[in-house]
Amino acid sequence: MRTKFLLGNWKMNKGPKEAEEFASLSAPLVDLAAAHHLEVGVAPTFVSLASVASHKPTQLILSAQNCNEHDHGAYTGEISISMLKEIGVTHCIIGHSERREYNGETSEACNLKIKALLANSLTPVYCCGESLETFEKGETLSFVSEQIKKGFASLTPEEAVKVVVAYEPIWAIGTGKSASSEIAEATIKGIRDVLKELYGSRAEEIRILYGGSVKPNNIAEYMKCPDIDGALVGGASLTIESYRELVEGMI
Ligand code: PEP
Repeated sequence: MRTKFLLGNWKMNKGPKEAEEFASLSAPLVDLAAAHHLEVGVAPTFVSLASVASHKPTQLILSAQNCNEHDHGAYTGEISISMLKEIGVTHCIIGHSERREYNGETSEACNLKIKALLANSLTPVYCCGESLETFEKGETLSFVSEQIKKGFASLTPEEAVKVVVAYEPIWAIGTGKSASSEIAEATIKGIRDVLKELYGSRAEEIRILYGGSVKPNNIAEYMKCPDIDGALVGGASLTIESYRELVEGMI
């Protein structure tokens, strides 16, 4: 049984004060989620992680949006996993399409970060997803399979089951144009088949989220799909009201 997971990706929104306000108001929705065996979390920008950490209820998962795979040293502007861990971060988004696009992150680079996170007992949330052009050419599965194989390269089954995958078609992120639940389920099932090739029946343990214009009014559709284990949500995770409605839609 895979526990459903809702993760809010705040991107470059909410400085420490606004983030603190959200964290301080989040107890009722976290309790509601816990009562229904849902995991819920937020991924604030680096400078807001500490303020969320000190004002959040215990069960609200705290995720970073990126990390560096090295433990320390001459990497100006970077943040290590041990630093994140020190302030209470337990999860980290890796390979978001915006980082792939604007920061040149490759699946090979993501693989190094995933391994470093696992070595530090943090949970990687590994993003994959195709462009509109790839989708229209009907090449989604081969493209995403490649991202999965490279991202999971040389992980043992014991490590692989600790990774959360997020399938996020690029054409659906922040566009209001979500993938239909049929498309999301078919691709996510395809991703699970790739993971089965790699890890056999243990692939059933790996959680795969959908992301891309998930809103309170469509989240329930995705949650009905057997292979979709939750959602990675940007815009609709930014206010307490909307976040609460997302949780309600998952119940
Ligand atoms: C995201 O940032 O990962 C995302 C899916 O954004 P949105 O929900 O706004 O499309």
